[in-house]
Amino acid sequence: MTSDRDSQVLIVGAGPAGAALALLLAQRGVQVTLVERQVDFAREFRGEIVMPSGWRVLEALGLGRGLEEIPQRHPGEIEIFHNQRRLFGISLDQQPSGGMPVSLSQPRLLETLVEVAQTHSGFRFLRGASVKEVLRAGDRIDGVRVQTAEGSQVLRAGLVIGADGRASTVRRGGGFTAQVRDAPMDIVWAKLPWPSSWKEGKVQAVVGHGHLLIAFPAPDGELQVAWVILKGAFGALRARGISEWVEEMANHVGAELGSHLRTNKDTLSRPFLLDVVTDRVEGWSRPGALVIGDAAHTMSPVGGQGINVALRDAVVTANHLVPVLQAGATGEILDAAAAMVEPERGPEIDAIQSLAALPPRVVLRRGWTGELVRFALLPLLGRVLAPLTAKPLRQLFDGVTHVELKV
Ligand SMILES: Cc1cc2nc3c(=O)[nH]c(=O)nc-3n(C[C@H](O)[C@H](O)[C@H](O)COP(=O)(O)OP(=O)(O)OC[C@H]3O[C@@H](n4cnc5c(N)ncnc54)[C@H](O)[C@@H]3O)c2cc1C
Repeated sequence: MTSDRDSQVLIVGAGPAGAALALLLAQRGVQVTLVERQVDFAREFRGEIVMPSGWRVLEALGLGRGLEEIPQRHPGEIEIFHNQRRLFGISLDQQPSGGMPVSLSQPRLLETLVEVAQTHSGFRFLRGASVKEVLRAGDRIDGVRVQTAEGSQVLRAGLVIGADGRASTVRRGGGFTAQVRDAPMDIVWAKLPWPSSWKEGKVQAVVGHGHLLIAFPAPDGELQVAWVILKGAFGALRARGISEWVEEMANHVGAELGSHLRTNKDTLSRPFLLDVVTDRVEGWSRPGALVIGDAAHTMSPVGGQGINVALRDAVVTANHLVPVLQAGATGEILDAAAAMVEPERGPEIDAIQSLAALPPRVVLRRGWTGELVRFALLPLLGRVLAPLTAKPLRQLFDGVTHVELKV
């Protein structure tokens, strides 16, 4: 095992939270090491919807033309169906507000963040390096042990930041504990060719019979399908075979999309099943360590919030850490700055997790009471949501609290 030189900050995980924070710190002269277990960002399926609140962070990161060059598509119209019946459509093109959701290639975004960070001399990126252990000196966390193709290596730092996602090693190894929040669903993800009869940018959401299916433009030109089902239901569906589960899905959507699903049955044969988890760590920092992003609060993909809140965590973390790091602070001063992150970010996380928990409860409710609630609520919802000015929707788009890069 080799031992390595110290950095001021060591970030575990180059997802949106870790890569954005590493860039912000490196741009401001901080010695930062970013460690990522994957060799290639495209090897893991990652969400791709970025809300205006997340987009504003990306604009503040100084990526210049790099941001425009990332493959992206802009949803134009959302159609809502209830049990194969089209209820209403919402045009996103004609909305007066600034900024709408964007479907953005996350692998390319992460590559861009790392590429720009690499132009700063204090930044170091270890790709294909998996953190296996959190190390301590007395009560203080002071580094990690990573495994690479070359062997095991020890990395020490003034502050270790866990941005290593929903199965965070830093959370576990650092002794952080989380409260799990109710997430009664799983999501089946699959990609299909873009339907030739669909207008560019069309999004379709289908609600009914204990299902929610959302079909939206993927940045690579394909149609991304997210099928939200009751937790544990997919095992039984898969056991009945591919034809049956595609049929089950096709029977719940409009005729046109149903026929497209059946035609592309073979493409759908290898879906990705996401076990949806929602949780929140209580106490994001401790001596020598901080957790942010999904490592601190695993987000449900419902509402497309995970990337946004991860990017916003990075901004708030930079706001608190940069002044003390630039002054060369270590130990308790650094810990005190890290402890400021949770009080500022917690209220938004709590509000968004509560908002995102609501639709599955209404949509996945089975039996006649569920149908009655949907029958009564959905048309009403159309009237409330169509102008896109309803408060809960604006909170999902724009964020709940004010987040601004101040350093
Ligand atoms: C299938 C799916 C679809 C989603 N869709 C959306 C969406 O459309 N919009 C949205 O906003 N959110 C979506 N989400 C949620 C969103 O992806 C996450 O909330 C967001 O990526 C969290 O960012 P993060 O940087 O905290 O963590 P992550 O993006 O999970 O990044 C963590 C990184 O840490 C690395 N890592 C993990 N363990 C280690 C280790 N031991 N050593 C080194 N590196 C490690 C991982 O490889 C990864 O690159 C989706 C999530 C999933 C799973």
